[in-house]
Amino acid sequence: MTVRNDWTREEIQQLYEQPFLDLVFEAQRVHRQHFAANTVQVSTLLSIKTGKCPEDCKYCSQSAHYDSQLEAEKRIAVDKVIQEAKEALASGSSRFCMGAAWRNPHERDMPYVLEMVREVKALGLDYYNHNLDTSREYYPNVISTRCFDDRLNTLDIVRQTGMKVCSGGIVGLGEDTQDRIGLLHELATLPLHPESVPINMLVPIKGTPLAEVEKLDVIEWIRTIAVARIIMPNSYIRLSAGRESLSDSDQALAFMAGANSLFSGEKLLTTPNAGEGKDKQLFQKLGLVPERAKPTVSELSVDAMAVA
Ligand code: SF4
Repeated sequence: MTVRNDWTREEIQQLYEQPFLDLVFEAQRVHRQHFAANTVQVSTLLSIKTGKCPEDCKYCSQSAHYDSQLEAEKRIAVDKVIQEAKEALASGSSRFCMGAAWRNPHERDMPYVLEMVREVKALGLDYYNHNLDTSREYYPNVISTRCFDDRLNTLDIVRQTGMKVCSGGIVGLGEDTQDRIGLLHELATLPLHPESVPINMLVPIKGTPLAEVEKLDVIEWIRTIAVARIIMPNSYIRLSAGRESLSDSDQALAFMAGANSLFSGEKLLTTPNAGEGKDKQLFQKLGLVPERAKPTVSELSVDAMAVA
């Protein structure tokens, strides 16, 4: 199947709005053409600098604009990061991701960032995470301290450095179907599809402006995953934030819809996540196997940083 970057919004809308079972069936068919069946890539995420972020993302516990009761933490020492990375690889993760709540690091932070990147690079840093979050139209409702084009520009710069891209979004932010379609359209028409596409479900955090937003029906999340699988067939579609709230059968449906990557561990930066033990049980129940660890792959997510 040819990988296309010229999807129209109308085509994506048609895919999104077709009968649910047809959509999931098609997504699984595409999935099996491009990836090994029953195989899921497992990632670990570590927050290396938590809280006091100057950005105002309305869903985020780490924004300094809201009182989410999150305790800010100083950046983690490089050797601790490396130790965590090695442990993650040893326990079956094939990707190690680091998140930092920075708009961009201060000059004084640069030696730390450089040393860490150098050290982790020895394990193979080659991905950069930078989510588009939502549609261009809905973006100003969620974040006001940067604009959608800033995100696209950063992705462009990251591509020019030769790094691989991990970029997706969040559903359940109060957006409507057109916004989910708009997000998918933006991702699928990038010059190169992100190698990894996280589709998060909002985890409402007390104290943030989106704490009380109405919960999105899980079926809409699964539809978003399935369409992502069909229009970006070579990308890993990743279940990220929000997975904790899913039942085993919901998660099975997400895998059926073409999700083939997840974050494992008790925490996702600052929000609870399905723990490793729970995941092992789920994998066993569903007959899933983790993709073989490639200890040369890891990922840096400096959330709002202009360039790595
Ligand atoms: Fe949170 Fe990242 Fe937004 Fe900062 S840039 S507020 S860490 S989501």
